[in-house]
Amino acid sequence: MIQHWEKFLNLNRNGYRHPYVNVDWHYTFLLLNREIEDKIDSTYSTSIFLSKRKKQSVILLTEEIPTVEKRKYLAYKIFENWKYSFCEQCDETFDHVWICELRASEIDSIIQETKEFFEEACNSLLINEDKDPIVNDKLINKMTFWDRTYSETKITFIDLIKGIISCELAVYTSLIFENRKLQEKFLVLLRNFVFEKSWNFWIDRCLKQKEKERRLKINFKKVKENLNEDKYIDPNRKFNQLNLFSGLERVSS
Ligand SMILES: [Zn+2]
Repeated sequence: MIQHWEKFLNLNRNGYRHPYVNVDWHYTFLLLNREIEDKIDSTYSTSIFLSKRKKQSVILLTEEIPTVEKRKYLAYKIFENWKYSFCEQCDETFDHVWICELRASEIDSIIQETKEFFEEACNSLLINEDKDPIVNDKLINKMTFWDRTYSETKITFIDLIKGIISCELAVYTSLIFENRKLQEKFLVLLRNFVFEKSWNFWIDRCLKQKEKERRLKINFKKVKENLNEDKYIDPNRKFNQLNLFSGLERVSS
C-alpha cells in the first residue's frame, strides 16, 4: 500500500497532471453503476428511479446537461444571444453553470457540506468496524480537489460533481479504510451526497431558465418552428472532451 502511495506522490511531483490521467476510471465507472445501491429494493418504482438517476449521472459525466450552449445546436435563431440566466453575462457552458461568480457562495457551501459529510461518514464507518476515527479537517484539506474552478490540468470539485473519482481520492480512501469493501461503501455514499447537492443546484437553474422562457414566450412549438437548418458548431466546445470520450470508450469496451 505504501508503495502505491509513494508512486502516486511522485506522479504528481513530476508535474504529470493531465486531468484525465488522474482519473480512477475503475471507481468512476463502478460508482456510475452502483451509486444508489443503498436504496435498492425490488419495487417497480425503484427501478424507474434507478434508470432515471443513471441517466442523470451519465449526462453529468459527459457534460451533456441541456445548457443554453447546447440548445444553440437546436435552435440558434432563438438562443443566439442567450446567456446564463443567473448572471446574464456569460455563455452558459457546462463549466459556467458551476463556476459563475453569482452562485459562488452556493457552490462554496456545497463544498463545505461535502467536507463535513466526508469526515462524519468516514469516521462513523471506521467506528462501526472498531477502528479509530482518524479523519479530521487537516487530512481533508490536504486533498487537492476542493477548488471551485474548472481546470485543464488538475482535478477540481467540478470533476467531483461530474462523478469523477480521482486517483488521489481513491488512494486517500484506500489508506483511510485499508479495506476495499468499506472504501467502496464510503465512495458510494460520497457520490450520492455530491450528486444530490449538485443536481438540486442544477434544478434551481432549470427553474430560473423556465421562468425566463415563459417570460419571453419560448415554448416547445416555437423551438420546433425554429430548428437549425445548418449545422451549428459551438465556439465554446472543448477539444479535450474528445480525450474524455476516447477514455470512456476504452474503459467501457
Ligand atoms: Zn456568470
